[in-house]
Amino acid sequence: MLRLPRFRLLEPRSYGEAAQLLAENGAGALDRSRGTPTLRVMLVAGGTDLFPNMKRRQFTPELLISLARVRDASGIQRNGHLDISAGTTLSAIAQDPGIRERSTALAEAAEVVSTPQLRNMGTIGGNICLDTRCNWYDQSLFWRTAEGFCMKTNPDVVCRVATSSPRCLAVASADTVPALLVLGATVHFEDAEGGRDVPLADLYQEDGIQPMALRQDEVLTDVTLPEADGWRSTYLKMRDRGSFDFPIAAVAAAVRWDGAKVSEARIAITALGSRPQLVADAARPLVGTSLDDVTIALAAEAVHKAARPMDNTSGTISQRKRAALVFTERALRSLRPA
Ligand SMILES: Cc1cc2nc3c(=O)[nH]c(=O)nc-3n(C[C@H](O)[C@H](O)[C@H](O)COP(=O)(O)OP(=O)(O)OC[C@H]3O[C@@H](n4cnc5c(N)ncnc54)[C@H](O)[C@@H]3O)c2cc1C
Ligand code: SF4
Repeated sequence: MLRLPRFRLLEPRSYGEAAQLLAENGAGALDRSRGTPTLRVMLVAGGTDLFPNMKRRQFTPELLISLARVRDASGIQRNGHLDISAGTTLSAIAQDPGIRERSTALAEAAEVVSTPQLRNMGTIGGNICLDTRCNWYDQSLFWRTAEGFCMKTNPDVVCRVATSSPRCLAVASADTVPALLVLGATVHFEDAEGGRDVPLADLYQEDGIQPMALRQDEVLTDVTLPEADGWRSTYLKMRDRGSFDFPIAAVAAAVRWDGAKVSEARIAITALGSRPQLVADAARPLVGTSLDDVTIALAAEAVHKAARPMDNTSGTISQRKRAALVFTERALRSLRPA
């Protein structure tokens, strides 16, 4: 049985207090005393990803700041736009009738994350800040000690998937992120000095070690979606086990109908690179059309071109690229008016 390492736990009652504790305790500082560098202070929300990672010693923070007791951390509000607090569970999002009707891709993505028990604990904030994954890295300390570490744990070692790669190629794997991208989400962060809003599309970068342009002293507090009038959206995911598993290829699509024509469109992919990404070349040809088969084929071809999976998850590279193409076709056909 894998056991958690020892750590101290603090339980602030507000996001402001959490940000203050991060600053006071030197968030972002690395502890080099135990061989491989590790973050000394980390946030934990539902703990469904962080605790297994700590058991595998991918992270060994000496201090955890839990967001479980933060007041108003969870909730879904509608005020012209949709405001979702970062501590809202995936189950609450999947079951919300308004999200299912108007922001369908998000409800569909939330309901295919892991298992019911983990969705009852796991939060949207934790999903947005999910670490990247790789077959080499997501192993126990025992396995990694025997086989050898890689760049993601120890910057002095090469990447084991592509030994000449200057960067880690671990894979973006959060299901809700592509759905939020096509719905035009903005995220709000707080730190000890104040706060900032970031379009979600600007948060992610093509780097498996540092996949987010996020400082360690920032707390994600809210996700905001604009008014969904006229939009239809969906999310399709390929995974090993149909009952529960991380995505190994996934597509979210959203189109806005103006009468019989598409007036705006967005397509996003994940699990096909280190960054979940909007594929503008796929969305562009859709505007002004009625989603005829020829246009959909053009969009699917653009997604196929943008998808660059590496051999570090289940499935083969060609299977995952092909899934991206087929899922784009299926997703767009499902968005035609009934
Ligand atoms: C068996 C198993 C299967 C899984 N399958 C899937 C899957 O199919 N799809 C999927 O997307 N995920 C999957 N997960 C991962 C996980 O359950 C979800 O991603 C969940 O949404 C994580 O949320 P959490 O609140 O538990 O995050 P935590 O584990 O608490 O945190 C995750 C990360 O986010 C950071 N964080 C959390 N909240 C904040 C915040 N407010 N501000 C800044 N940083 C924050 C933490 O520091 C940590 O680095 C799986 C996990 C397991 C164990
Ligand atoms: S992609 Fe390379 S560096 Fe990144 S986790 Fe995998 S083996 Fe390690």
